[in-house]
Amino acid sequence: MSFTIAIDGPAAAGKGTISKAVAAHFMMAHLDTGLLYRAVGAQVIAGSDPLKVAQSLQAEDLQRPGLRTAEVAQAASQVAVMADVRAELLEFQRRFARRDGGAVLDGRDIGTVILPDAEVKLFVTADATIRAQRRYKELLEGGFTTSFEQVLSDVLARDTRDRGRATAPMVVAADAVVIDTSDMSMETAIAAAISAVQKGISS
Ligand code: C5P
Repeated sequence: MSFTIAIDGPAAAGKGTISKAVAAHFMMAHLDTGLLYRAVGAQVIAGSDPLKVAQSLQAEDLQRPGLRTAEVAQAASQVAVMADVRAELLEFQRRFARRDGGAVLDGRDIGTVILPDAEVKLFVTADATIRAQRRYKELLEGGFTTSFEQVLSDVLARDTRDRGRATAPMVVAADAVVIDTSDMSMETAIAAAISAVQKGISS
């Protein structure tokens, strides 16, 4: 049986942590689709052509070190604007989703474009300042040197690009359950997501 859960939302809203927890809870495979765009963005920084990279992307490329930096995040959101790059990455995501046992995919356009028929759709969001505070803490803990103002400005720039692009912009799917994690602990947010998925499974 292939059962798919689409989890979309802006940067640093907690969707990565929630998606991993949901996948572990329901024993499903998980794909962080942001890694596809990050893998392309990282190679573009190194001088490659975005479309050529997208055409030849392999699963191993998602495991490369250095994909989590702020620089790669910005490059990812720049290549994510390109319709031909998005088209190349679409089949990889759909193939992953169709596996037996079900899959959780998180990103920006999973419930709207990649898997419009997903059995359960969540949209995980939070206030931009709170998201920037979380990302700032993560970056400091990861040993990166930055300022809160820089992180906030990066988050807002990515939001604007992700919401404003012509192809597959980040929007809430009509049938998505919205989880605003601004005032939630991660444990509460995970419990809310699991409960929404449970409802979707039993309905
Ligand atoms: O989720 P993450 O922050 O790793 O994504 C990096 C960038 O990749 C996003 O800012 C967005 O521009 C792009 N992305 C996308 N569609 C997805 C996942 C990520 O456009 N499904």
